[in-house]
Amino acid sequence: MKITNVETYLLDIPLKQRAITDSQTRLESVEFVAVRLDTDEGINGWGFNWNYTKGTRAVQAIIDDTYAPKLIGKDPLMYKTVLRELHYTNHFIGQVGITRVALCAVELAFWDIKLKVANLPLWKYLGPMKDKVKAYNTDGGWLQVTTDELIKDMTALVERGYDAVKMKLGLPDPREDFKRVKAVRKAIGDDIKLMVDVNTVWDLKTSKVWGRKLEELDVYWLEEPMNPFDKKAHAELAQSLDLPIAIGETIYTKYDFRDYIEMGAVDIVQADATKLSGIDEWLDVAALARCYNLEVIPHTNVQQKLHAQLAAATPNVPMVEHCYESIADIWEDPIKVVNGYYTLPDEPGLGCKLTDKVLTEYRIG
Ligand SMILES: [Mg+2]
Repeated sequence: MKITNVETYLLDIPLKQRAITDSQTRLESVEFVAVRLDTDEGINGWGFNWNYTKGTRAVQAIIDDTYAPKLIGKDPLMYKTVLRELHYTNHFIGQVGITRVALCAVELAFWDIKLKVANLPLWKYLGPMKDKVKAYNTDGGWLQVTTDELIKDMTALVERGYDAVKMKLGLPDPREDFKRVKAVRKAIGDDIKLMVDVNTVWDLKTSKVWGRKLEELDVYWLEEPMNPFDKKAHAELAQSLDLPIAIGETIYTKYDFRDYIEMGAVDIVQADATKLSGIDEWLDVAALARCYNLEVIPHTNVQQKLHAQLAAATPNVPMVEHCYESIADIWEDPIKVVNGYYTLPDEPGLGCKLTDKVLTEYRIG
């Protein structure tokens, strides 16, 4: 089998819900790069990557200008050697960041071809441990809503069957954050897991002081309290708190996860295959975490179908994030959550193709 054509799509897909904010970003749309690899045997593979800030045109350029010429004529079933070549194509301009985001999109397209050849969905190909996967929900906890709206949104999720929910922190005054967590805890009761996410804006002292306070409210984890480059600060924080520290959505290599784990700087590993170089590296991280008795609870916003399938085949993944429900229908056969559990797909392949309507309507390049 040989690759005969590489097609990329740059997309800007608006969120249908109200604009939402976390401590860093006001989110109104999600940019995508979708990749289609065509082969001489009529099978094609779809991969993607996403970005809820801007600048995805650079990712598309990496694929079109530096990867595509090297992909033509290659055997997609020998993809690991191909990916290695692609990595060294542009590693002087970026070992991580946009080059890895681009590499992942291609890796996912290779997996889609491999799974279509095997005639299996990802989770069955990997060898599942379970046939449904627990979801926790982040869509009720955005930062811009009033405390009354927050309580309404979070309790609505619990009523829909979620027993684990997450809310955003990182307001200018942490005392306001604390009051909101307290109000939500009171509203949802003691039996629901409640996680908080700072999106990296606190410093070490703030994280220590307010992390200790959050323990009083039985918070299940404190997510991305600080700059993810500062592993030493995370190690010191983890030493000083009983509250588990969760991090991973802005960590781009398995070597960084190794360092975090060995330094005792992370309790919940939130590895995201779309920030790593794809499925293979995610599986490496999950295996590494398992050796250290750590749980992996993948970060997602649009890539739930990928991670729910990985979770089904990985013993140390107890649940997977769910959010951005307003745009779930951008995917063909979108994954559903019923009573707090993901329903896994049956169709062969990765199952991560955007609909033709989305590929046409929101294409910007
Ligand atoms: Mg997060």
